[in-house]
Amino acid sequence: MSSNNTDNVVTPAFVKNFRKVTPYTPGEQPQRKVIKLNTNENPYGPAPGVEKVRNGIDIDVLRLYPELESASLSAAIAEYHGVPYEKVFAGVGSDDVLSMAFLTFFNSEKPIVFPDITYSFYPVWANVYKIPYREIPLKSDFTVDENDYFCENGGVVIANPNAPTSISMPLDKVEKIIRENRDVVVIIDEAYVDFGGETALGLVDKYQNLLVVRTFSKSRSMAGVRIGYAIGSEILIKALKDVKESVNSYTINTESIKMGIASIQDEDYFVEKVNQVVETRKWTASELEKLDFRVLDSSSNFLFASHAKMPAKDIFERLKEKDIFVRYFTKERIDNYLRITIGTGKEMELFIEALKSIIE
Ligand SMILES: *Cc1c(COP(=O)(O)O)cnc(C)c1O
Repeated sequence: MSSNNTDNVVTPAFVKNFRKVTPYTPGEQPQRKVIKLNTNENPYGPAPGVEKVRNGIDIDVLRLYPELESASLSAAIAEYHGVPYEKVFAGVGSDDVLSMAFLTFFNSEKPIVFPDITYSFYPVWANVYKIPYREIPLKSDFTVDENDYFCENGGVVIANPNAPTSISMPLDKVEKIIRENRDVVVIIDEAYVDFGGETALGLVDKYQNLLVVRTFSKSRSMAGVRIGYAIGSEILIKALKDVKESVNSYTINTESIKMGIASIQDEDYFVEKVNQVVETRKWTASELEKLDFRVLDSSSNFLFASHAKMPAKDIFERLKEKDIFVRYFTKERIDNYLRITIGTGKEMELFIEALKSIIE
C-alpha cells in the first residue's frame, strides 16, 4: 500500500452525497479455459457473416461517431419483425434498454411490481433510480399467477420465459396482465423467448402500454457485442429515445451495428443453432432426471434443477473443483437449485459424467 493512501482513514464528507447502490452480481467470468455453464451464453459462435463484417471493417469509420438511433440496425430489426421503424429502440444489450425503460416509464409514486424470483437486475435498477417496487411471490411451483398483477401499481415487469426458473408463461396470461394494466407500462423481457416461449410481439399493435425487450446475447451468440432492443408503440419508443438522447446520444458502436445486421440476415444459421441448443437441453434434462434431479420445465437455454438428496451448494462447489461452472443463488426459496446453461453436446456429456462421480 502506498504511503499517501488516505482511504479508510476518515470517511470524507462528500460521501454523504453519493448515490448509494448495491450493484447487480453477474456470474463469474473465469479467464482460464473451463466448462462454462454459468451465464447463459450460447456455446456456438455468432453467424459467419458477423466475422466477415468484423474483419472487413474500414478503420477510417472509427474516426466518426456512429449513426444516430443505430438507424440501419433498427431498420433491419424492424424489417425482421415486420414492424415500422418507429416502433423499434436499440441499445447496448438489453440491460441498457431495460435500464432506459425503467428510467423513462417508472416515475409513479406507486410501486412497480415484478416476481420475487426473477432477473435480479430489476430491483437493482429500481434502487438506483429510486423507483418504489414490490416483489410478488411466484406460486410454489414457480409459475406466475396473473391475478396477482391485477393491482394498483406504477408499472409491471415480467421476464418470459422467466430467469432463473426457465419457465414460460402462456401468452393469454401475459395478455391479461397487459390488459388489466393499461394505465401503466408493462415490460415483457423476452431474453430467452427464441428457445421456446410464446412472444408478446403480436400484441404490440393492440396495446400501447406494452414494451417487448429482446437481446442478441443469448439466441444470437453475441453477448460480447452488446446489442438489445425494444419493440413497442410509437408513444413508448419516442419517449425512450428522448430519455436516451438525454443521457448518451451515441450508444451502439459502428462495428456492432454492422455485426448485428449480419446476424439478423442469417436466419438459417440462427434457427439451426437455436434448435441445436434446444435438442441438447432436452437430452440434458432427461439425464439429470435419471440422476434424481427435479428439473423445471424449461423454455430457455438453461435448466433449473434441484437434487433429491445432495444440497445444490455442495454440487456447485464440487463441480467447480472440476472446472465446471454452473450458477448457484443463495436467495431464499431457490437456494437448493442450480442454474445450468446449455453448452455444446460434448460439454453437457462431460457435465453429466462429472455429476455421476459427485453424486453417490
Ligand atoms: C441475459 C438477460 C438480460 C440481459 O442481456 P443483455 O446481454 O444485456 O442483452 C436481460 N434479461 C434477462 C432475463 C436476461 O437473462
